Amino acid sequence: MTAAPSVREIEIAIVGGGPAGLAAGLYAARALRSTVMFEGGVLGGQIATTDAVENYPGFPDGVNGLDLSIAMQAQAERFGMETVYARVTGIRRAEDGRFALSTEGAGDFLARAVIYTAGAEYNKLGVPRERELTGRGVSYCATCDAAFFAGQEVIVVGGGDAAVEEGLFTTRYASKVTLVHRREELRAQKVLQERAFADPKMAFEWNSVVEEILGDEVVEAVTLRDVNTGATRRFPTSAVFIFIGQTPNSSLLVDLGIPLDAGGHAIVNAWMETPVPGLFVAGDVRSEAARQVVSSAGDGATAAIRADQYLTHLGG
Ligand code: NAP
Repeated sequence: MTAAPSVREIEIAIVGGGPAGLAAGLYAARALRSTVMFEGGVLGGQIATTDAVENYPGFPDGVNGLDLSIAMQAQAERFGMETVYARVTGIRRAEDGRFALSTEGAGDFLARAVIYTAGAEYNKLGVPRERELTGRGVSYCATCDAAFFAGQEVIVVGGGDAAVEEGLFTTRYASKVTLVHRREELRAQKVLQERAFADPKMAFEWNSVVEEILGDEVVEAVTLRDVNTGATRRFPTSAVFIFIGQTPNSSLLVDLGIPLDAGGHAIVNAWMETPVPGLFVAGDVRSEAARQVVSSAGDGATAAIRADQYLTHLGG
């Protein structure tokens, strides 16, 4: 006779270990709820690869993203949050109203409430040779890979905070960083724009898009197309750092019937509640988020406070 596979019963499951999940874990644990936070990738999510977070209050000199994540985790674990390093592969509503979570390698869990903070992933350009040359000059993380291009000329694609911030970081190593943007105005915060325009190592190719990436073994050049004239030209570069926005990791919410906006973000109310009682969505994966570390942490705290109230209301 084989024993039935064990299912761990907990009160609050947090799916994703970025700033929203870590803050939710802190608040849920401090409410004395048995709390498990699941992280299937790297603790901290997107900030794990951010060299300096300069706009999280309390750190006048900035703070390394991974260091901040580790500190947040230690703080939550001090109050009893448990981290399980496993990807959640499915969430199903059980008949008794609880949530059945399946994981990759860590077994199954039954949670009375779920706070879903799975974040978002960087978008791909979708141009020829992008996939083949990823890790060979194509990168979505300058903090990780910029040092490989010391003394070389590279490009960064995009005009938002991520592109400008990571472009500025890359100037520490590269001899020249050309930011390729499809318009002639950046979307990034003004303070970042000013810094980029003042940096002698930064150059700009406006109204331009990358049409293809060139190189056999490693990146050698890109084909740039002028969006106004349609003219194309070869632009030599050793690396292509791509920061053109993100796609939310909301696929697990679809089967639960959570409404999504046109970009795939979950629609929630100001308490991070979804139409499914006991299921909360916080951070970059929710609609209309400011997508900052501080606002994600605020989202997570809000969701955990509401989840605690929800469980109290249910009795217990
Ligand atoms: P974003 O703000 O959505 O910017 C994406 C950029 O990529 C835009 O400039 C966009 O051009 C361009 N783009 C989009 N699709 C493109 C394509 N197919 N080809 C060429 N260019 C394309 O994304 P993000 O910079 O990753 O930032 C995401 C969120 O995180 C934002 O809310 C941001 O504030 C936040 N964030 C904050 C910080 C910080 O506070 N320090 C750092 C990183 C990220 P258009 O401008 O023409 O649309």
